[in-house]
Amino acid sequence: MIRTHVLGFPRIGAQRELKQALERHWRGEIGEAALQAVAAELRARHWRLQAGAGLDHVTVGDFALYDHVANLIQLFGCEPKRFGFRGDESPLRRYFAMARGVTAHDHDAACGCEPGASGEGAAALEMTKWFDTNYHYLVPEFDGATAFSLHAERLLAEIDEAIALPASPKVALLGPVSFLFLGKSKEEGFDRLALLHRLLPVYEQLLTRLAARGVTWVQLDEPILGLDLEPAWQDALRRAYARLGTVDQHVMVASYFSPLADNLALACELPVAGLHVDAVRAPEELLDIARALPLTRELSVGIVDGRNVWRADLDAALAVLREVRALRGGRLWVAASCSLLHVPMSLRDDAAVDEDVRPWLAGAIEKLEELRVLKRALWSDEAVVKALAESRAASASRASNPRVRRLDIARRVKELPTDADRRAAAFPVRRAAQRARLKLPAFPTTTIGSFPQTPAIRAARAAFKRGELGADAYRDAMCREIEHAVRRQEALGLDVLVHGEAERNDMVEYFGEQLDGFAFTANGWVQSYGSRCVKPPILFGDVARPAPMTVEWTRFAQALTDRPMKGMLTGPITILQWSFVRDDQPRSETALQIALAIRDEVADLEAAGIAVIQIDEPAIREGLPLRRAARRDYLAWATRAFRVSASPVRDETQIHTHMCYSEFNDILPEIAAMDADVITIETSRSDMELLRGFGGRVDGTANGQAGGFRYPNEIGPGVYDIHSPRVPSRDEMLRLLRKATEVIPAEHLWVNPDCGLKTRDWPETEAALRHMVEAARVLRSGVGLGGQDGPDRSKTAAG
Ligand code: GLN
Ligand code: ZN
Repeated sequence: MIRTHVLGFPRIGAQRELKQALERHWRGEIGEAALQAVAAELRARHWRLQAGAGLDHVTVGDFALYDHVANLIQLFGCEPKRFGFRGDESPLRRYFAMARGVTAHDHDAACGCEPGASGEGAAALEMTKWFDTNYHYLVPEFDGATAFSLHAERLLAEIDEAIALPASPKVALLGPVSFLFLGKSKEEGFDRLALLHRLLPVYEQLLTRLAARGVTWVQLDEPILGLDLEPAWQDALRRAYARLGTVDQHVMVASYFSPLADNLALACELPVAGLHVDAVRAPEELLDIARALPLTRELSVGIVDGRNVWRADLDAALAVLREVRALRGGRLWVAASCSLLHVPMSLRDDAAVDEDVRPWLAGAIEKLEELRVLKRALWSDEAVVKALAESRAASASRASNPRVRRLDIARRVKELPTDADRRAAAFPVRRAAQRARLKLPAFPTTTIGSFPQTPAIRAARAAFKRGELGADAYRDAMCREIEHAVRRQEALGLDVLVHGEAERNDMVEYFGEQLDGFAFTANGWVQSYGSRCVKPPILFGDVARPAPMTVEWTRFAQALTDRPMKGMLTGPITILQWSFVRDDQPRSETALQIALAIRDEVADLEAAGIAVIQIDEPAIREGLPLRRAARRDYLAWATRAFRVSASPVRDETQIHTHMCYSEFNDILPEIAAMDADVITIETSRSDMELLRGFGGRVDGTANGQAGGFRYPNEIGPGVYDIHSPRVPSRDEMLRLLRKATEVIPAEHLWVNPDCGLKTRDWPETEAALRHMVEAARVLRSGVGLGGQDGPDRSKTAAG
């Protein structure tokens, strides 16, 4: 008996209908009923697609107006007290209040709930990345007073909708242990695991209610099975399912994204009706699982990649499935590896995609079709012979396409000297050469790259893309923006200038569009959070740089000023992380190819006289594998790729990198091993806390703690948060800088904002930077350093 299902489905809609409806609702243009109607229509449409592909069950419970974890907060009645809900407000208003925060004004006028004690509204729930994806979930908040109660009306109504279609619903929800794990203890020293015994009865009640409603299968996701767990969490999984396994309901526990590894036996022993595993991320474990899982339980094999856009190799998948089926006495569930939330709805008909590449791709709808074919092929149904042949042809065309594998690139990679990732001299030598060349003052000031992307810039780009503005006129418009940015920076008295990135709409797409090996979609949207979606490029083939990408813009900007102009590039790991990447070679090889393309750009910028080059790597932390055992390898090739891109230059050329919005303290030695001369890093939101890690003493202790790490090169901790329109005062930034000098040697310290300024507008940007330059100047006079040798430009200009 072969069954097929999916763990979850994209909910935003093929035309991003949910996004539009949500944003109209938030703007007050449509009411709750209209929004709910759009949502119901999308659910029905998506279930029809699933049923149409012959899935044995359609998945219910994966839909969310904002986030599926936030849904659970309401399902289990644990909305944080700090929102001050009375309980008689509309659940939807409470939901959006948690997701988006409430201002004091909303609180009385719109929300109707009691203002918090301060009367100042409430900040939204924290948002964080869902495992190693680019999806962000809302973090549940727990403390000793957290209580749970079942509020299943919304879920039950969705089940009724599915049954009415008619379709057979399988309910998919996050399991209790992962739900607690992914939440945050909001009380010092509180262990949220202590809540498990309060939470389990509510899950139990829910399972019973679902059975009574005619639901025959409930999928409980426990993706934490793919993490290195403390024994207490492993034990919690055992306890939870020992209890839930006694309910008269078929429960399938689902794991994905990462190998089960040391949790394999645990997962196979859970006394539930079924187990789903990710056979794309951890194919090597599949047969062991097929043997270890008792034959009385169902095994769901996630064989179609739910995280990437490639069409499955159905022959290869069938070979694996047949082997598993033989071990399982003929029984098997076939599935996508994880929820299809992480892939675009459909790609087969996306007219923007390169014609060579399009037949190789599969979005969610095409993946449903793959499951249909796999199931029928396992029945030996002749009807799918044609589909199998098509899949085979697509695999063959992909494997033999000369743009996928290029001899010139293979040769270049093979012949790359092993020391291509080393600067010629060590940092102290480079530093002396750079100081002599750049003549910067102490505490040099700079920004991270982008300046406000004004409506005028966006309008010009849109007109250019529509063909209404000619290439020359577009270039002239961008040059005027660059000149404006340069003059503003000179007037502010900044030391190292940037051209402002007016010509870029996205820091990955801009480079991808100019590199060989990338394809782009018109409609390949993937939900990032709430109504926000991203459209990642598709990296399908060997990467090469046919021509310089940034040199003309940078040269133009440098010619406008006698101050150093930073060349701005996106690093290889960030380009890798924010694209759908090929699955026919290791990520490390793809990263190296991108690194070589960036390396050529770095060399060309240097040859054009650019003395400072920044290679942004904000996504380096995101690529870190979920399992500790795999991290060392990743960090080794990722940092090498960065160094390959950064190392073709002479000693006196200064390489910067930039990172932001991640936890970096656990990878500091590797960040240091990137050997950038200067790193600018986001820190202001944590009040410079991040620097604790960077500022170990020379003797290897961090602030007196043993085992500390001392960041060896120069560093610019962000002194103001660029997410807010608020203009911080000079003294506020000065306080942060003084704090930084407690851990960072003054002669290593740079002064800059947290990140790029493209989301801000010019008046607030200028005001904030003026204060920032003043703060640097105060610091200079106080410390009485001879500086980095050069004049203090802020005195004349910004004073
Ligand atoms: N240079 C980029 C900018 O300033 C960096 C953006 C980022 O770190 N995400 O916009
Ligand atoms: Zn940044």
